[in-house]
Amino acid sequence: MNAAELIKQEALRLGLDACGIAKAEAVDTEEISHFQTWIAKGFHGEMSYLERNTELRNDPRVLVENARSVIVVALNYYPHTHQHPTAPLIARYAYGMDYHYVLKEILNNLLLFINQNIAPAQGRCFVDSAPVMESYWAWKAGIGWRGKNHLLILPHKGSYFFLGELILDLELTPDSPMSSHCGTCTACQDACPTSAFLSPQVMNAQRCISYQTIENHKETPKEISDLFGNRIYGCDRCQEVCPHNRFATPHTSENLLPTDELISMDYQTWINLDKETFKRLFKKSAIQRGGYEKLREQLDRISGK
Ligand code: SF4
Ligand code: SF4
Repeated sequence: MNAAELIKQEALRLGLDACGIAKAEAVDTEEISHFQTWIAKGFHGEMSYLERNTELRNDPRVLVENARSVIVVALNYYPHTHQHPTAPLIARYAYGMDYHYVLKEILNNLLLFINQNIAPAQGRCFVDSAPVMESYWAWKAGIGWRGKNHLLILPHKGSYFFLGELILDLELTPDSPMSSHCGTCTACQDACPTSAFLSPQVMNAQRCISYQTIENHKETPKEISDLFGNRIYGCDRCQEVCPHNRFATPHTSENLLPTDELISMDYQTWINLDKETFKRLFKKSAIQRGGYEKLREQLDRISGK
């Protein structure tokens, strides 16, 4: 087994569901131009951090000194159980412990394995935490293709996956990017409750429920919030309708399991949620990052307050 194969084998042993390798090099010019046009049109809304650190985002060798390879990993988060049938909806990725911690720990263990078993290597782990084009690098590393919903789709597994990267100074055999298997399907674009997709892979975040209920701290235009339905934190609609997610199977990560309390919360329990309960319930959850007031706003909206 060569070094790349050993790393992939260890990644699976650590509980990851996929691992691929890309050469650390400048991001394709077509990708950069696509991203810049998206920013110029203001589709990123209030996420002004996306306007910064262009040099770092466009080349991992600027982000990490002497970078040679980008190892990309995927971790399944498709849940075993779902919310109470009357509950307002939260995105499935937020059911368990904040994935930033879970995935970063696994990536650090992978880097330790490389140092102890393959070769001395300097590297940095990233989980949605720096200017790294995650789905682009995942595609480059051959673990899936980018669907028309702009999410990475793993063949025969679907799109309910967290992505993380380990950028390091070790030269490894790279994988080849995967071609799209979306074909003529447009299910995700057609199903979006707020018509956020302008064309395949071009999404106006300002119309996206995930952006509006998590990232945006300004008032949401009523013509958009009227389309949210009972979604209070994120949205899974463009994944639910994707035919490739019929392959989704429940994850096996203990840290990502929801508590019994969260799963059993019905409509009224959610509506009555106070700040103290919020703090206790979401202490280690991604939901805590958005803050109680943001969630309260959505709970008040659906209860007609
Ligand atoms: S997450 Fe929901 S609102 Fe956002 S693009 Fe997908 S379907 Fe549309
Ligand atoms: S719903 Fe269809 S078009 Fe959208 S990502 Fe899935 S396969 Fe591609």
